[in-house]
Amino acid sequence: SKVSRLDRFISQNSTFSISDVRLLIAQQRIVLDGCAARSIQQKVTQFTRVVLDGCFLQNNQPAYLMLHKPQGVVSATQDAKHKTLLDLIHHPQKHELHIVGRLDFNTTGVVLLTNDGAWSRKISLPETKLSKTYEVTLAQPLNDKYIAAFKDGIYFNYEKITTQPASLEILSEYTARLSLTEGKYHQVKRMFGFFQNEVLALHRTSVGNLALGDLKPGGSRVLTEKELDELW
Ligand code: URA
Repeated sequence: SKVSRLDRFISQNSTFSISDVRLLIAQQRIVLDGCAARSIQQKVTQFTRVVLDGCFLQNNQPAYLMLHKPQGVVSATQDAKHKTLLDLIHHPQKHELHIVGRLDFNTTGVVLLTNDGAWSRKISLPETKLSKTYEVTLAQPLNDKYIAAFKDGIYFNYEKITTQPASLEILSEYTARLSLTEGKYHQVKRMFGFFQNEVLALHRTSVGNLALGDLKPGGSRVLTEKELDELW
């Protein structure tokens, strides 16, 4: 989502030219997020409410949702064959939303959706180190070697990268909880693939502080102000 200077924004979204904007400001005809504009240099973002002569030039509301993805649904907004995440959502802005971190067809759990590109980019950046926690069911028994290997990182030949330190908690012979701070393609399956251990079921319980709680499969809700504030 790009940021523009107020004078440029006005010239691109009205019949006024860039050189008219000083006068419009002096005449208090421009209002930004409820306050009279003060300078041609003020920043206008995707979600700045911009009013000119009492009419909105822009009025985008940011939207942040969590969905409990069920099995057998594609992490896409459109698909010819299968049901998509968007088919499960009933929200006035649903067609503006994009998916923050995709889950595989049979993976279940937390998926975030938003229309805020800066927010989703920040979540996905490895530098942000936001933890994504998964419950994993394996085909073969687990042992302590997995814990050390995942902490050190697994080498992915295709991308020539080593995965960031991940913490594995063995819950039972065939189940574990895994926390990652990144999201490479099929990362969990490929990490267990290093041990030739097939992932039979994969469920994401949280992204950062955003946990499923009692949200049922297929259910969705908007994130609260508090959850958004406490995410970083
Ligand atoms: N890792 C995977 O392999 N699949 C997912 O859906 C998520 C993480």
